[in-house]
Amino acid sequence: MDQAKQLEIFKHIIDIKSVNDHEADVADYIATLFEPYKDRVDVSRVTFAPGRDNLVIATKDAQGPVFGLSGHMDTVATGNLADWQTDPFKATVKDGKLYGRGAADMKSGVAAIVCALLEMLDGTAPLPGPVKLLLTVGEETGEYGAAQLTKEGYVDDLGALVISEPGDDMKELTYTAKGVIDYKVTSLGKSVHSSYPDQGINAITNLLDFVNQVEGVLDQFEHVENPVLGHQVSSVTKIGGGDQVNSIPSEAWVMGNIRTIPEHPNKEIYTALEGLVAKCNQLPDHQLKIEYSYPEEPMAGDPHSKLLQQAQQVHDEMFDQAVKVVGSGGANDGSEFSQAENDFTTVLIGPGSASSHQSNEYCDLAVYYQSIKYYEKLAQLYFSEL
Ligand SMILES: [Zn+2]
Repeated sequence: MDQAKQLEIFKHIIDIKSVNDHEADVADYIATLFEPYKDRVDVSRVTFAPGRDNLVIATKDAQGPVFGLSGHMDTVATGNLADWQTDPFKATVKDGKLYGRGAADMKSGVAAIVCALLEMLDGTAPLPGPVKLLLTVGEETGEYGAAQLTKEGYVDDLGALVISEPGDDMKELTYTAKGVIDYKVTSLGKSVHSSYPDQGINAITNLLDFVNQVEGVLDQFEHVENPVLGHQVSSVTKIGGGDQVNSIPSEAWVMGNIRTIPEHPNKEIYTALEGLVAKCNQLPDHQLKIEYSYPEEPMAGDPHSKLLQQAQQVHDEMFDQAVKVVGSGGANDGSEFSQAENDFTTVLIGPGSASSHQSNEYCDLAVYYQSIKYYEKLAQLYFSEL
């Protein structure tokens, strides 16, 4: 495949708007690229919701450990359009850079792994063993596509997984990541006229018993330092409640965000939070409950894994600058994939500049072209050392 075709695929994927939805349109396009190889690959659409299809493309008759390549097809929203110098949904090339929403995070990475597998099929690169592409929905809003693929067994045959998330133009190699817990505590009270507060139950003051203690409860976990990820951090981030100024509030809520580390898996934190809620509920008339939305476990990773060494070795062969081995403060699909019963190593490395989620997001095209070769060579090294 020549660079013109590699660029065309990248541009085409950028031009499809898939902001937290419509990933099926991206999947449709990618599936057509594999149409000429339909006797050699299995193409599976795994529907999460209408218009939201994960896409899995696996070389046929896969035996033994499979080399997985993964990326997410959704993007974040554009933010203020006035801050963009180009149309975010029309790929624009300028001075060797491609601009558009998802150019970094992570349609460049998706296009690169698609091109890599196409080249393994068309003979541009060797197909060294069974390879599987896992393209997901909803990574930016809760990794539920990856969760679905994991639950339905699509990663059970993997021996290794490379996620092409951007890492400062292929300069960063990530093997571990923090988890995340978004919680919401709701307090229920009883509304009465504010001239008779004794006859009501004030949901706000009851909620404050939780708010005032939560940092102290989480503090016990926040002294342990992970050598790569640092320590757990937490913040109370949103609060609301009440109906009007002369009524005793019948409902109030607070939300918080916690970034967890492998040393204290999420379930320890749930136990602590739920313990505090139970303690508050022992006070008179308190009725608090806690819920979580799309929590992610920390991805422990292995700094000594063979895949990590191989990923560094191929990088050394191809790039002048040594790759930085890092951990990520944010969650990614790898956290969901690593919940599989099958034990395989995951690393993240991909094209795309450090402009994710910003206006004028871009990818350096030279890095994009190199990344395609990188995934091909990494697959070869992986199978040669099995
Ligand atoms: Zn991403």
